[in-house]
Parts: sequence; C-alpha cells; structure tokens
Amino acid sequence: MGRFETIVDQIRDTQNIAYEQLAYIFEHIDAEKEQYLYAQARAVADPVFHKAVYLRGLIEFTNICKNDCYYCGIRCSNQNAERYRLTEEQILSCCDMGARLGFRTFVLQGGEDPYYTDELVCDLVRKIKALHPDCAVTLSIGEKERASYQAYFDAGADRYLLRHETANEEHYAMLHPANLSGAHRKQCLRNLKEIGFQVGCGIMVGTPHQTLLHIYEDFVFMRELQPHMIGIGPFIPHKDTPFKDEPMGSVQQTLYLLALLRLVFPKVLLPATTALGTADPMGREKGILAGANVMMPNLSPVDVREKYMLYDGKICTGDEAAECRRCMELRVQKIGYHIELSRGDHPDFK
Ligand code: SAH
Repeated sequence: MGRFETIVDQIRDTQNIAYEQLAYIFEHIDAEKEQYLYAQARAVADPVFHKAVYLRGLIEFTNICKNDCYYCGIRCSNQNAERYRLTEEQILSCCDMGARLGFRTFVLQGGEDPYYTDELVCDLVRKIKALHPDCAVTLSIGEKERASYQAYFDAGADRYLLRHETANEEHYAMLHPANLSGAHRKQCLRNLKEIGFQVGCGIMVGTPHQTLLHIYEDFVFMRELQPHMIGIGPFIPHKDTPFKDEPMGSVQQTLYLLALLRLVFPKVLLPATTALGTADPMGREKGILAGANVMMPNLSPVDVREKYMLYDGKICTGDEAAECRRCMELRVQKIGYHIELSRGDHPDFK
C-alpha cells in the first residue's frame, strides 16, 4: 500500500484529518487513487445506510432577501432578479403533492425575507406538521435570533440548514458584506444545535479566495460542531453578482471533499447537491458514489423555479415534481443504490 492509501485509511480510522493529510491527498490524487478514496467512503457509508439515498422535497418559497452575499443570484441588490413569494396555500399544496409522491421531509428554503415573521413561519410549520404528522420539516431561512429558532422548534420544526459557507473569518468577509460575520453565523449553528434541531452546515467549494487551509479550518469547525448534515457543492458564478467573472468551483474537488467528509463523519447526512448536478450532468451520481446519501429534488411550483436562481444554469427548473422524483429514482437505481422514503433522520435521532 502506498502513502496515499495509508493516509486515507488513517483518516477513516481516526475520523479526523490533519492539514498535512488533506494537502497530501489534494496534491497526489490521480484517477486510480481517487477510486481508492471513493471506495473507502462507500465502505464507511454502506454499513450505516445500506445503499439507501434519502429524498427531501425542496420548496423554495421566497427569493426575496435582505442580504447581499457576493456570490448569490438572489442578493438584494440584484435588480434583475424577478422577486416572488409563495402564499401559504401554495406552500401547503407543494407539501400535499410531495406527500403524495412519497416524500417524508419538506425543506422550506428561502432568502431572508422580512415578510416571513416568526409568527408566520411558526404558523406554517404548525400547519404542515398537522397535515403531515409523519413528515419532518426542515427550515433553511438564514440567520435569526436564538428566540426565533426556539419558536420554530417549539412549533414543530425538526431540522435547520444553515451553511457556514467558510469557517475562516477573513475568507467569510471576502464573500459577504460587512454587516454579516462568520462568527455570528457559527453562533447561529451552535444555538440551533443546543435547541435540539438536527442541524446542517456546509460550504461552497471553490469560492473566490478559498485556500486549502480554509477547507482544513472547515473540518476543524465541523468536528467541533458535529452537525447532522453537511451540504457542499461547487461555487457556480451568477451573471448578476460581483463574482460573475470568477471561475466555477471544481467538481473533482467537491467529490474528494464529499469522500473525506464521509470518512471523518461516518453517520452524517451528506447531500449530492443540485449545484453538483448543475456543474456536471452526472455530478449527483458521482457524489453518491463518493459517499453522499441524500438528494433534494425540487417541489416548488414550476413557474417560480427559474426565479430561485442562486447561480447560472441551475438544473431541473422545468420539471414537475413527479418527474423530478422519477428521475432521481432512475439515476440512483442505475448506480446500484435505492431511494428510501422514510423521514431519513440522522442515525442518532432515530
Ligand atoms: N437564505 C438561506 C438559504 C441560502 S441559499 C441561508 O442563508 O441559509 C442556500 C445555499 O446556496 C447557500 O448557503 C450557499 O452555500 C448556496 N449558494 C448560493 N449562491 C451560490 C452559488 N453562486 N453557487 C453555489 N452555491 C451557492
């Protein structure tokens, strides 16, 4: 066994990664070694998840946002974004449709839209949980006060997704305007965890100015947080943002990181993201074969899909929910995995 394989095994056995190990892997990986890394990731995931891929129905319920993140297509200063906000009735009908298609998790994601007060969010959560008591509700609506998170939790929300984007403060400041801080975002994640949510953090791979040291710091932060979910996907430029001319993040590097995350966090829920599927038509399949175990097909009404444009070229904007669901099933089957339609909680939450 070569040094590369030994390092991969060490990462797996210690469930930890040192900067030198990360750097060695990124410097020395080639087509053959890559396969070793992915095989080890699968060997860790398969005994935990038995080749099941969990589905989450994603409802992008508002693209109105008060923030101005430099990478994001729905940033408030993008005048070209056509804004929308789904009504409660529309959101509930997305959930009905999703439930009929077998989804047992709904992810409500949106910009930080001030219209959605805590009261409205709690109302919505309570209604969804009353109509679909066997379903999990995941919120992904950004940074809020601890009391707000507590109210969402008390209303019945089960999970919360808030990517930390980068654990390094200086890097965070290169991606966001000065009113946002990495420290605050991390504190939000700690609050969410303490309240009792299943919590998802994550990063974009290949954002401007990102270094391998930053990625190492992401591992350090995540080892401390111990999230239940980690969402990663390549950065993809959007034409109406300050990063429009920046290069796209690498699909390869995203796959390496998915595999390494699987080795360090054997039980974590790891989505093969839409961004990965956008950057490479087979990206999500490759992601699953590198250790991912979640997919998040879109349940939003087709007429708003084009408007939730975080980055250019986003896939699946024309497909009805039922088509997305079927497409996922076929894709997953082709690579020897199967869709599982349980709630798909983190193993520690069952
Ligand atoms: N307002 C919510 C949801 C943000 S959108 C929140 O703050 O959490 C969800 C994720 O999409 C972001 O966290 C970011 O990591 C990702 N994203 C945004 N713009 C992107 C881009 N240009 N390329 C790739 N991913 C992007």
